[in-house]
Amino acid sequence: MAYKPRIESKELKILKALHKRMKLSEKDKQHFFNLKKGYEGEVMFDKLTEKLQCDCLILNDLLFKVKNTTVQIDSLIITTGRIYFYEIKNSDGDYFIESNTNRFYKKPKIEYINPLLQLNRSDSLLRQLLQNIGYNFPIEAQVVFINPEFTLYQAPLDSPIIFPTQINSYMRKFDLNPYKLNGKDKRLASKLISLHIEENPYTILPDYEFTKLRKGITCEVCDLFSINVNGKICHCGDCGHKELVTAAVLRNVSEIRLLFPEMKITTNLVYDWCVVIEIKRTIKRILVRNYKQIGVHQWTYYE
Ligand SMILES: [Zn+2]
Repeated sequence: MAYKPRIESKELKILKALHKRMKLSEKDKQHFFNLKKGYEGEVMFDKLTEKLQCDCLILNDLLFKVKNTTVQIDSLIITTGRIYFYEIKNSDGDYFIESNTNRFYKKPKIEYINPLLQLNRSDSLLRQLLQNIGYNFPIEAQVVFINPEFTLYQAPLDSPIIFPTQINSYMRKFDLNPYKLNGKDKRLASKLISLHIEENPYTILPDYEFTKLRKGITCEVCDLFSINVNGKICHCGDCGHKELVTAAVLRNVSEIRLLFPEMKITTNLVYDWCVVIEIKRTIKRILVRNYKQIGVHQWTYYE
């Protein structure tokens, strides 16, 4: 179990909800797909680090402010007196590094930010951060290409890269570390978590309005709007998934709160949002049972 587990960012959650309910611009859609793919790659890597048997602390998805600039670390592992961190890439296809310029391209020639330069920057900032808090642990930084369909041509031989074909043996070697963590290692882990910042300054979201979003309950599994309500059960006409009405309504209340944190949750609002729940009383009952009721009569809302 990770000492600091990974969760989907608010930005990704919001984009996922918006993608179902409105037409995103090509740029926003691309941004959403990139975030989603990146997250999936990170989760793939987490599945491997979770299996490590050696004594270590795994901290996923860290964001620090160092000297007015931010540094994002996808995955960081502390072993005895040592730090490893990873920049995880879920790119697929054929890439190459142009040797005289150090530029990173996808074939035939679309340029991307060279992840090795990104890694250098993070490495330098993390070192400064550790220095500031009085830890001089050695750091090993690597770019991990997690996607099995990724190929990189012309990477310098000593590049700090773990390729898809090397990940399993890398993890096996990692597990050979016989040392136990001590108090200092654990204190460093808590210190890093205390320095982690939640709000990502690079969040990019499109403009959206309540009235313009498509309303209705979407299937928990396939995300489509093909929900029929039968008694206490929501049934997806597309994938066949069944969900309790209560669970579906609560899931949709969470979605409204995610998208519109300033809106007061009322029976009418949830009724208009869900569309397929025909009886308002059903919604009221679910809200009363699961949220704190504030105010009376037509001014009632739930928190
Ligand atoms: Zn479905």
